[in-house]
Order: sequence, then structure tokens, then C-alpha cells
Amino acid sequence: MSRVISVRDIQEMVRNGQAVSIPDDALVTPSARDFMSELESNGHAPAAVVKGNGSSGAAPGDANGALTPPTKKLTSKSPKSELEAFFNSPYAHSLKVQICEMGHRLWKREYVDGNGGNMAIRVGEDIAICTPTLVSKGSLKPEDMCLVDFEGNQILGTKKRTSEILMHLQMMKHQPLAVATCHCHPPYATAFAIVGMAPPTCMLPEYEVFCAVGVAPYRTPGSPDMGKLVADLTDQYNTILMANHGVVTWSHNNIEEAYWRMEIVEAYCRTIVVAGQLGKPINTFTGPQMKELLGIKQSLGFVDPRFGMKECELCDSGEWRPGATAQAPESSEPTVGLDADAEAAVKAITDQILAQMK
Ligand SMILES: [Zn+2]
Repeated sequence: MSRVISVRDIQEMVRNGQAVSIPDDALVTPSARDFMSELESNGHAPAAVVKGNGSSGAAPGDANGALTPPTKKLTSKSPKSELEAFFNSPYAHSLKVQICEMGHRLWKREYVDGNGGNMAIRVGEDIAICTPTLVSKGSLKPEDMCLVDFEGNQILGTKKRTSEILMHLQMMKHQPLAVATCHCHPPYATAFAIVGMAPPTCMLPEYEVFCAVGVAPYRTPGSPDMGKLVADLTDQYNTILMANHGVVTWSHNNIEEAYWRMEIVEAYCRTIVVAGQLGKPINTFTGPQMKELLGIKQSLGFVDPRFGMKECELCDSGEWRPGATAQAPESSEPTVGLDADAEAAVKAITDQILAQMK
């Protein structure tokens, strides 16, 4: 039977730094075909069709070692020619393509508006590739990307780096594990940021494992003060709600994982807001159930302030639960139907309709 190649398979190849290769007898899904042409239009090497079972023998990053990170660790002090060679290398290109892909996903999911949202990937001791300013994440191209040092000075790239880069860099400086950072304005999570509250916990496993959510107070976007407040939270949190602004996430693995956190926190916020409107009590995890999830989280190398807490302390935050604020305020006075004449008219009409239905 022919193998089916999905968009996921292609993404996997790109992520692993493999040349995109399709066995000649494989069935390629329409979305995978679209994705391949998108890659090609973004300057990625065209997909190669290989004969037989698809094992082209090319190990990840094997094509002349092209897609493996440089062996020599670069810094902002490295010679310009070395930085240039790196920035124009196939490896750097693959990171730029990843940022573009995440940008397109952010835009398609309506997590960004206008030119909002920005991302960065650490690529050396004190340098990062980041998104440019004033470009929609829906139309990002690899050639739009910038190389900056950790003070925010632009080293390479034709477009000007994002104005919010300082926050990303301060996160990377403060949290040595942070490889990639992603910032955007997903509506439901940003709603929690507007009220300055982390979502209540202990309701969905995905959220508990992948996200640890903290809240940073409002400061002007792009200001050093904003960056510091966010950076200080990265010891214990990987998903930070920025009050009256949006969300920023980081990953110790790659930019896609930082992006995943965005999807997960946004889906969680949306789900619990809906759950709160169903008029039923919200069921939450027990202490032992929560302990197990945190065990998985720890094994994945993610941060969380609750590691080491007693089971009974894990889900007793106790303040807001979904639905609590959705209840109508208690009042002895009716707030509608004060007009006695209108009330009587409505009653008469209702009685008439009911009588006709009998
Ligand atoms: Zn923003």
C-alpha cells in the first residue's frame, strides 16, 4: 500500500533539518502539497522525489552537513564575515523558515493583529534571529529576518528588528534555558491579562503539562522595564500574561514549542470561559491527579512553581472559578419588567398563544 504523506510529515522533515523527500509511490495530501509549494516560494529547496520506500539514506542534516548548527559558537564579537556566513547559511535559513511558519500559524489563528506579535531564536552566546517590525506575521518571509545582539543592536538583516526585541532578549539573558520566545495577542488569554489574573488551574491535562502561567504588570511595550518584569518570571513560568497587552512564551527546545504554548493557553482560556457558562459545577483534578501531571511536566524539563508542593496544596488556589463572575448580581429589586402596563400586555399575549396551542 502507498504511504500517505501529510503536512505533518513534511513539517517533521523540515524540523529535523532533512531534505523534503517524497517516495515516488506515495500519496501526498492536498494540504501537504500546498505546504511544499509554500516552502518553495519561501526559498526552501524544492521537494525531491525519491524512488522506492522513501529512505533516501540522507540522515538529518546530512546534505553536506548543511542543516546542522555551526560547530563554532558565535557571539556578537565574532568577525562580521563569520556572522554573515552564518546568517546566510542553510541552517540559519531553516530557522528563519520555522519562524515564518509559526508566524503564518499565529496569523491564521488570529492571535496577531496588524503588525503585532514577534519571535526570536537564540543562535549563539549573545545573538538571536528575530522578526522585523511593521510586517504582518501572516506575510513573513525568511529574508525579512534580523540578527541582533543581546542589547538589541541590529547586526544583520535588511528590515529593522521588532521594537519589542528587548523583552525577548532579557528573557534569554535571565533564563539560560530559553532557546526560543514567542509573543502575540490571542484574545481569550489576553482577556485574562486585561483583568490581571492567571487562569484557574487543575482542569485540563494539556495545559497543566505544557504551560506554567504567570502575570507581569503593565509597562510600555518594548521598554526595558517591561522586559525585566517578564524576564524575572521565567525562572518559574514559561507562559507569561502581560497585563493589558498579550502573552509571551519561551521554550528550551524550539520555536514551535513556544508557539504550541500559545495554542494551549488560548484554547484553555476559551474552554474554561465556556465551561463557566454551562451552569454546572466545575470538576477539578484531585491532588494525586495533579501530582502525576506535574511529574510528567518535570520529566519534560519544563518549569513550574508547584514542583515539590504537597498534594493538598496543588489545587487549592480557591479564588476565582469559571462562572463565578458570570452569575447575576443579587438584588431584591427586579431590574427588568418594571413597566406594569407592558407586563400586563405581555401576559395577555402569552396567555392567548398558550390557549391557541392547547
Ligand atoms: Zn505585543
